[in-house]
Amino acid sequence: MTLRNLDPRAPWVISTHDLGRRPGSMLQITRTLPAPAEIGVDMIGVPRDADVELEIRLEAVMEGVLVTGTARTPLRGECARCLEPVTSETEVGFQELFFYSAEDAAEGDSILNGELLDLEPTFRDAVVLTLPLSPVCSEDCTGLCVECGIRLADAEPDHKHEVIDARWAKLQGLIPEHNNDQES
Ligand SMILES: [Zn+2]
Ligand SMILES: [Zn+2]
Repeated sequence: MTLRNLDPRAPWVISTHDLGRRPGSMLQITRTLPAPAEIGVDMIGVPRDADVELEIRLEAVMEGVLVTGTARTPLRGECARCLEPVTSETEVGFQELFFYSAEDAAEGDSILNGELLDLEPTFRDAVVLTLPLSPVCSEDCTGLCVECGIRLADAEPDHKHEVIDARWAKLQGLIPEHNNDQES
C-alpha cells in the first residue's frame, strides 16, 4: 500500500469530490488521457502520450470508492517474426477499490489520497496483462529468410538460396554435353 500526496493536476489523478461519500452514489467519467510513459513488454507497448479513451464509473461503497471501467489505447511495437513495425490497439477492463482509510486496506490495496485517486497503476497493470509476448504484423507472417535476413513477405514467392545448387547444375550440365561429344 502506498500513501503519497497526489498532484490534482496529474492527468491520471481523478477527483472524487463530486461523488461524495454516501454509499450508493455514482459518477460516470469519460475522458481522453495521455498514456503514461513506459507501459509495455519487450516487443510492444503503449506509445507515451498516446490518446487513451477512458470510461469509468465511480461508486461510493462503505469502505471506499469502487472504480469500474474500460480504457482503449493504441499500441506500437515490432513483429516478433519479421521485425516490421506493428500498430494496433487494445481495450482493457478493470475494477479497483480505493479505500478511504489505510487501516481498512491490506498490503497492495489502493488508498484514496483525500478526495483523489490515482488510476495510473490500475491502468498500467490492466494493459500489461493483455500485451502479446510475440506480436505479429499478420497471423500468416512468414518472418525473415534464415540465409539472408530478407523479409519473406517482400521477397519472391520462391525465394531460396541456390548459389551452390546452381553451380552443381552447371557442372551437371557439362557432363551430358561431354558425353554427347564423345558419342558424336
Ligand atoms: Zn511480420
Ligand atoms: Zn534469403
